[in-house]
Amino acid sequence: MAMGLLVLLVYGGYTAVTAFVGSDGEGAGSQQVASAAQAGTRGVMAPARAVATQAPGPVDCAVTPCVALTFDDGPVPQTADVVDLLAARGARATFYVVGEQAKRYASVLRHATEGGNEIGNHSWSHVDLRRADPRTAAKELDRTGDAIEEATGVRPATMRPPFGGAVTSVAAQAGLPQVLWSVDTRDWDGRSTASVVARVLSEAQPGGIVLMHDVKGTTRAALPEILDALMSKGYALVTVSELLGRDLTPGGVYRTGPAPTT
Ligand SMILES: [Zn+2]
Repeated sequence: MAMGLLVLLVYGGYTAVTAFVGSDGEGAGSQQVASAAQAGTRGVMAPARAVATQAPGPVDCAVTPCVALTFDDGPVPQTADVVDLLAARGARATFYVVGEQAKRYASVLRHATEGGNEIGNHSWSHVDLRRADPRTAAKELDRTGDAIEEATGVRPATMRPPFGGAVTSVAAQAGLPQVLWSVDTRDWDGRSTASVVARVLSEAQPGGIVLMHDVKGTTRAALPEILDALMSKGYALVTVSELLGRDLTPGGVYRTGPAPTT
């Protein structure tokens, strides 16, 4: 048992290194990293007991309390771990990805969509679109849409402006609603795993949209507890488009979705 654990950890360390020294972008290298990351998740992090699972199929968030978890700034190879934690529970989430990462780790992105997760547009290079000239800002969104569509076959339906800096006319011209959040875990601020868990559980409400970053190890470590606690409270974990519906206004700003009235 101890030997098996050691081997997996060493293997995980090896793949973590290759993820950042590999020069072949989205090719076989990142595919290998993605599958190794999944193996690591199953071998080391998966709890011994069975986890509660969400019923498959569509959810009506006006009847069932829903929360939309969102993960920004990836994909990175470790995004595959997040996807597997979600899949083990039948839960879904939305990944607001940066275009240049989407191009590099296209296979990770494809893996995410196969699990029923949604991919949103988070600009090409994570610039503050408010400070970019409108043509550059439009190109940031357009190139990212292209990269996501190329990787997954689906063009994103929503965008999230970097730094939460809404850019209404640029987003409207791109045909994209702007999805912000109702719960900021502040995981970007060097918070501990415990504080990320605590913030989600204390602030999540029906219809809530939770901001997290799958690029952060503390957040990935917090995720099993977050998922299990929200699900035990009766929340369905859905994508942004499942929560908000498809009939959104391009350029409009959305921070929450519907909640059951009773
Ligand atoms: Zn971001």
